[in-house]
Amino acid sequence: MPEGRPSGSGDWWGSIPSLPTNKTSQGRGFRVSRSPATRPCSPSDVGMIQRPEMSRSAGRRAGKKTETQTCDFLIVGGGQAGIPLAQHLAKAGHRVALAERRHLGGSCVNFGCTPTKAVIASARAAFQARRGAVFGLRIPTVEVDFPAVLDRARSILMQSRASLRRGFEQSDNPRLLRGHARFTGRRDGDFHVKVGDQTILARQVVLDTGTRTGRPDVEGLDKVPYLEAGNWLDHPELPDHVVFIGGGYIALEMGQFYCRMGSRVTIVDPAGSALDQEDPDVVLLLQRLLEAEGLQFRLGSRATRVEAGRRGVTVHVETDGHADAIRGTHLFVAAGRQPNTDDLGLKTVGVKLRKDGIVETDERLATSVPGIWAAGDIRGGPMFTHTAWDDFRVLQSQLTGDGSRTTRRVVPYAIYTDPELGRVGMTEGEARAAGVRVKIGRFEMRDNGKARELSETQGSVKVVVDATTDLVLGAAVLSAEGSELVHIFVALMNAKAPYSVLRDSIQIHPTLSEGVQSAVASFE
Ligand SMILES: Cc1cc2nc3c(=O)[nH]c(=O)nc-3n(C[C@H](O)[C@H](O)[C@H](O)COP(=O)(O)OP(=O)(O)OC[C@H]3O[C@@H](n4cnc5c(N)ncnc54)[C@H](O)[C@@H]3O)c2cc1C
Repeated sequence: MPEGRPSGSGDWWGSIPSLPTNKTSQGRGFRVSRSPATRPCSPSDVGMIQRPEMSRSAGRRAGKKTETQTCDFLIVGGGQAGIPLAQHLAKAGHRVALAERRHLGGSCVNFGCTPTKAVIASARAAFQARRGAVFGLRIPTVEVDFPAVLDRARSILMQSRASLRRGFEQSDNPRLLRGHARFTGRRDGDFHVKVGDQTILARQVVLDTGTRTGRPDVEGLDKVPYLEAGNWLDHPELPDHVVFIGGGYIALEMGQFYCRMGSRVTIVDPAGSALDQEDPDVVLLLQRLLEAEGLQFRLGSRATRVEAGRRGVTVHVETDGHADAIRGTHLFVAAGRQPNTDDLGLKTVGVKLRKDGIVETDERLATSVPGIWAAGDIRGGPMFTHTAWDDFRVLQSQLTGDGSRTTRRVVPYAIYTDPELGRVGMTEGEARAAGVRVKIGRFEMRDNGKARELSETQGSVKVVVDATTDLVLGAAVLSAEGSELVHIFVALMNAKAPYSVLRDSIQIHPTLSEGVQSAVASFE
């Protein structure tokens, strides 16, 4: 992700222009001003303040005092929206603090996108080496050094983490606060937030606290150890047989990874299809490809109970009223994400949550409480790094710009199986359900020259076009480099250009992009 950093170095406080008193932030009407005498986000000028609720905890801790700091913006969570926003707001002259309880970079850097895509690259290298004969190569054996595969991923994420940390070391604004942040109330227009032992008084607060693995309602899950998105990197042993509860994108990506490393993999999901939000024809094709590699799917099966066994774990499942059990050496739970909003003290300030813990926001990312904003996974909608990062741009526009940027946007995403599924916009099912007259373009990658030269002929391109306007409504590119190729459709959709723009363009030969073009040429 692009990373913004405050310019300048050294004693930054000295060079910050004091914001005029009573000035309102653009488009919002909140005071972001501070008298020139105060040094926001630094120890308060009145020194160590003891407040009634703090004196209780101070008493418990044998006289330890609580430090109070003030700032214009407090950002809670150093994830994909929080860090660039903190840097931007500081650069714009605001006094900013960012609270992070664990590692900068959040899910994406520390256990999500970065390490998963790194190990998937190792898995692909192993897969390609094993089929060396296809390319006329003799590679007698391919041995997986599983701890080394994880180490490689870890070293890549550590580089990213360190680089994010350096961004805070170069300046005191934004100021990085280490600790769990929790609202304690509101007084005199300021939100009071405890971060570790400090109390922060902030004019405005941006929440970017992300998600964690949700625990499905399966008996015995609290008694067995299991792998999940947040801890898989800490398990250097290669499972013999890993059973996934959940058949979403994390299960498919990680399932293929473990399978290519040498594990047996079974995926259990109560839905009749993996990735059940996608078109069934697309998912079925992907499922068949994964099955051909050895992944086993138990779809339409609900995990009811798990128990630790002598050699691992037993997952009891129910399929159409019929009960049986799957024995594995490891369990991987990937049955949804739970927003980190349950321990933020949101009730004390009145922020409204949905039943599932997602923060209610409007399209400007404003919550139900003026002055509190939410970004990233906790605001509902697509949960991706690039959408969280775009939330930073929405907030940039709302807080310091003209307010024109909102969450009305074209959102692409990818599932990093091999072949990859690049997706954007509506599925055929969604378009038809919305009553749109559609035409569907298709192209099989086995008919693409570059795909044949690469021996990457699996997959297909599917495009959904509005038959009245000729505008692209959505696309699914299941192909080698599908996550890259789908951007051709993303560009058309953002430009609101008819599919004929792609059809009539020249694509370089030989490229996989020719396959994308062929999908829209298939209408004629
Ligand atoms: C296994 C996996 C693979 C993924 N792969 C991809 C991918 O390939 N591409 C993609 O686009 N997305 C992927 N994602 C999703 C992506 O990681 C998230 O959508 C993205 O990180 C969300 O960013 P965020 O800013 O909302 O939250 P996060 O990045 O999760 O950051 C939230 C931060 O807030 C901190 N925090 C939480 N509560 C508090 C508190 N009270 N006080 C202080 N700090 C707090 C947390 O420690 C964390 O650092 C993946 C996710 C997983 C789990």
